[in-house]
Amino acid sequence: MIKLHDKYFKPFISEGEILAAVKKMADTIAEDYKGEVPIFVGVLNGSFMFVSDFLKAYQHPCEVSFVRLSSYQGLTSTGIVETLLDVPENIEGRSVIILEDIIDTGRTVRKLIDIFSETNVKDFKIATMFYKSDVYSGEYDIDYFGMKIEDKFIVGYGLDYNELGRNLKEVYQINQRHMINLVLFGKPGAGKGTQASFLKEKYNLKHISTGDVFRFNIKNGTELGKLAKSYIDKGELVPDEVTINMLQDEVEKNADASGFIFDGFPRTTAQAKALDDFLVSKQMKIDATIALEANDEVLIQRLLERGKVSGRSDDQDEDKIRYRFEEYNEKTAPLKDYYDAQGKFHSVNGIGSIEDITSRLAKVIEELQEA
Ligand code: AMP
Repeated sequence: MIKLHDKYFKPFISEGEILAAVKKMADTIAEDYKGEVPIFVGVLNGSFMFVSDFLKAYQHPCEVSFVRLSSYQGLTSTGIVETLLDVPENIEGRSVIILEDIIDTGRTVRKLIDIFSETNVKDFKIATMFYKSDVYSGEYDIDYFGMKIEDKFIVGYGLDYNELGRNLKEVYQINQRHMINLVLFGKPGAGKGTQASFLKEKYNLKHISTGDVFRFNIKNGTELGKLAKSYIDKGELVPDEVTINMLQDEVEKNADASGFIFDGFPRTTAQAKALDDFLVSKQMKIDATIALEANDEVLIQRLLERGKVSGRSDDQDEDKIRYRFEEYNEKTAPLKDYYDAQGKFHSVNGIGSIEDITSRLAKVIEELQEA
């Protein structure tokens, strides 16, 4: 997945597929124009990459020129497409083949036909790399196309989203999936917080760590903080009722999020059920629970190291850490079966470099997005 401005795009058509389609079109046109020297007219800006590849595949005598019409956003208030770079000179009596990157509604096609109908060309044809045939409403029958595609916004191979993406060698399609909600699962020290901070950037998600919310409340001396502190200091879980209400508040505060990463929640079956019910009431759901797996001895070392830096009271004493693991084994580990039964449980090796672990997680998430 890639991000351009505020939107996400997923790979759609590979470079190899594009080049094969370009070659096929070039061969067909070469066959039709045998013995002639046609003028290919690229429509800027979007067609530059297509024109270049097309000409490399069209190894017969030909000429090349460009026109430039203002694009989508450039439509004037009157709805008229402006010509910014005019038709080539001396095209009278010649065969002209327009090379367009994409044809959708056909507005540009109409304008091209308008401007070329005033010239005395011998022959006029339109070739487009991508063709949204379902939405094309023009009367003119498109002569050649590389690939028919459905009506979804694409970028790459010359096509842009607000000027970004033109230089991509392959074509990406907008990712219209609205939300991904993930549970990051794993023992204390498994790296949930670290990974969440990367994943939230990569996938534009809101990260909710119940542990962080508790610590924030403790720091600010709130009632909730005072209550939670007594449990946290002992390495015990804070009672479900308190935690569930707090979590729901956090989700509601972020109603505009494009998805959530739940980190450290749910930790009990009651919390998992409450989360499912709550999400259903918001027409949301958990898409996946991803467990970061690591063995206890590795985790204890990590936590003791972290305790030296963070000052977290529950990370500094090995007995407390072991107690948190016991709590985990008894209360949280059974959630594996809970999510397994829903077909949502994924396990990822949590040992390795931070980047490697992020890629393992990304692989799971991207499979979800493709599903
Ligand atoms: P964490 O930062 O996730 O390791 O959480 C630190 C501590 O906060 C835990 O040991 C618990 O005492 C408390 N806590 C965090 N999340 C929860 C939860 N979902 N349920 C109960 N207690 C929690």
